[in-house]
Amino acid sequence: MASPYSKLEKWQRMYVNRSLNMERIKAIGFDMDHTLLMYNREAFESLAFRETLNKFIEAGYPEELSELQFKPNFLIRGLLVDMDRGNLLKVDGHKYVKTAFHGTRLLDKGTRHQTYNSESFKAQEFLSVDTFFALSEVQLFVEIVDFMDANPSKIKKTYREVYSDLRKFIDLSHADGSIKNLVMANPAQFARKDKHLSTALMRLLDGGKSLFLLTNSGWDYTNRMMSYILSGEHEEFPDWQDYFDYTIVSSGKPGFFTGSQPFLEVMTDSGLLKPHTGTLIKNRVYQGGNAGLFQKITKFKGDEILYVGDHIFGDIMQSKGKLNWRTLLVVEELEHELENLEKIKPIFQEIQHKNHERESLDEEIQKTRSKLMSVQRHLKVSLRDGDAKKAHHLEKELDKFALKIDEKSPILAKLDNDIKELLAKKETSLHPIWGELMKVGLERSRFAYQVEGFACVYTSRVSNLRFYSPQKRFSSFHDILPHDP
Ligand SMILES: [Mg+2]
Repeated sequence: MASPYSKLEKWQRMYVNRSLNMERIKAIGFDMDHTLLMYNREAFESLAFRETLNKFIEAGYPEELSELQFKPNFLIRGLLVDMDRGNLLKVDGHKYVKTAFHGTRLLDKGTRHQTYNSESFKAQEFLSVDTFFALSEVQLFVEIVDFMDANPSKIKKTYREVYSDLRKFIDLSHADGSIKNLVMANPAQFARKDKHLSTALMRLLDGGKSLFLLTNSGWDYTNRMMSYILSGEHEEFPDWQDYFDYTIVSSGKPGFFTGSQPFLEVMTDSGLLKPHTGTLIKNRVYQGGNAGLFQKITKFKGDEILYVGDHIFGDIMQSKGKLNWRTLLVVEELEHELENLEKIKPIFQEIQHKNHERESLDEEIQKTRSKLMSVQRHLKVSLRDGDAKKAHHLEKELDKFALKIDEKSPILAKLDNDIKELLAKKETSLHPIWGELMKVGLERSRFAYQVEGFACVYTSRVSNLRFYSPQKRFSSFHDILPHDP
């Protein structure tokens, strides 16, 4: 019988790494940015790029930097930044650097190999591009690297020093409100409403789940943006807070999961804070706090909580690793990738077809090669024994096998080349520079390994939850081995 979910588009489905029985889940927590709240990424990232660039110039960096242009979609998540060399890397799960850029210039294979693949590669020495917020930051970095290379005397700093300034300026742009205020003034320009979000949340509420919001954003921003996406979306829930039992802002994740910060209550009209003890009250807003205390107050056990977020390190790794919370990762890119993967199915089938053809041809050539070796051995013996007739016959055999190898080898080489070209075509149809998010060639990417390692379940957006029962048992078929029947 067909699965009830087979009618869903691929990007609407939930994907399971580790079995998750929703019946056991009592509380579901949500991150806000890029989880409940989806952005118009190009508008948002280009704003962050521009505002941060202004800070560079205010701090005395050359005026010409203001000519740098934000290039949307130059980067993808999951890349690594080599701050010392000014390079960007895409790495597979075996830590092999498959693509590398210096600034915005592709590094040739030789340089890439010599720099990264000749000795053991330590991913922890590099900065991982995990969040969407990091994309505009890293984009600005690689463009400044280009500028430094073209104008060696104009910025007398190392790439790493520039990166640490960049971090400072981004923090400053967030602290002084230069990004936030513009977004709050015009949420429709920067945020996307998902008309199915309220339905998805209601389905969970009807299933008896307690929902909470746990975000690193501050109260004023959270309130403005959550109002924009949820308030008034459903007549029973005029205010966005009506969906949530608890609202925790400025939570300081990942520290929230491991630290011992107390909760403060936010006076929502004035924004002032007051110390808080005792239980958390519905419709009030809290700041800071920590997961241990949250569980003590709410009496939810770790494995009764499902946390939904978009950041592998900040949301998922810590909540799952330290507290045993179950995790749902939102991988927004899947929507675009799965649609595109569907479109390039014929390319994928051709790759598989050529791969099979290549395998049988290779097998045939190897067999002929073994026969040729054995004839060569026999020929040596015949020549030694002076058996001219036999030697003549064997020489003929030898020619026949050699000819066959000569004929087949170029076909094999052509197949190799075809497969390589098809793989490149597949990759560039998904992203012109970096290819598939979850793959490097035919291998899994580092990003894919992380998704697999840390997220119990993943999907492209929160509203996909509306398709599934709140008591659904998500089963993983992950423990199937390559040799299982
Ligand atoms: Mg987030």
